[in-house]
Amino acid sequence: MDANAASPEPRDSRDVMIDAMLESALRSAELAEETGLGHDRIIISAKVSGVRDLVDVYRLLGARCDYPLHLGLTEAGMGDKGIVASTAGLAILLNEGIGDTIRVSLTPEPGAPREREVEVAQQVLQSMGLRSFLPQVSACPGCGRTTSTFFQEMAQQIQGYLKDKMPEWRETHPGAEDLRVAVMGCVVNGPGESKHADIGISLPGTFEEPVAPVFIDGRLDRTLRGDGLVQEFIAMGPGASGWQAVITANSSSSLSSSGGINHTDDVESSKFDNSPSAASARSMACGCPSGPRGWSKW
Ligand code: SF4
Repeated sequence: MDANAASPEPRDSRDVMIDAMLESALRSAELAEETGLGHDRIIISAKVSGVRDLVDVYRLLGARCDYPLHLGLTEAGMGDKGIVASTAGLAILLNEGIGDTIRVSLTPEPGAPREREVEVAQQVLQSMGLRSFLPQVSACPGCGRTTSTFFQEMAQQIQGYLKDKMPEWRETHPGAEDLRVAVMGCVVNGPGESKHADIGISLPGTFEEPVAPVFIDGRLDRTLRGDGLVQEFIAMGPGASGWQAVITANSSSSLSSSGGINHTDDVESSKFDNSPSAASARSMACGCPSGPRGWSKW
């Protein structure tokens, strides 16, 4: 920095810092090899806390060496800010095929568990189509056709159920983590979206008959009704249809078998498959019009 400041045409201090990090990382790896550490025993991690710095440093590292790179924003912060910043940096680099392991570093709320970091890291990889960990629940945003929080609560309950079942399904039904589940808020537009999921349910919207069609692999499987429909939906199967059949059918087309991040219970993840063929669209957007209606059961 001093030499740069004294030069006739000083460079931007950020550029100097990034160059210094790059040279320091590469020099450290070189010294490690000189003292006997094997080339294949080295992983480089450059600790920066700004998204643009992270992207710039790792792009340069990716171009200058073949060491595995450990990505992650350090001191990312708390809550939404930390999650968004971490995701932004990781997503750019992963999408360019840069990075071999990842970490997410969040400041937890007082008393909150640290698993959030793992969950966010997993969700980044799953959203990028690199590795699946949990069935993905797509839920519509709600609109004038939904006048209560029922469908949000249902989406939450189903998500919780899937999360609870995954340890068991991971053993008995490899590939269950690739399930796509849709929870839509009305039967006007919901069935269309549900048909694109492995299993989907459309709740009745305002003014609609209080029935909830369930689609499996694009076909109407059954219609649920009444106050217990959430539990009925969750409890479907095992049998000719229902969760077991959906999971079994899905097992054969598992993304997970293509190799992916070998995730452990800490925040580190490694060896992901970032080939374009492994990327799959997992979001379902509802292009539905919203309209102010008044029936309030749901
Ligand atoms: S119209 Fe679309 S956003 Fe509104 S409740 Fe129906 S599916 Fe959800």
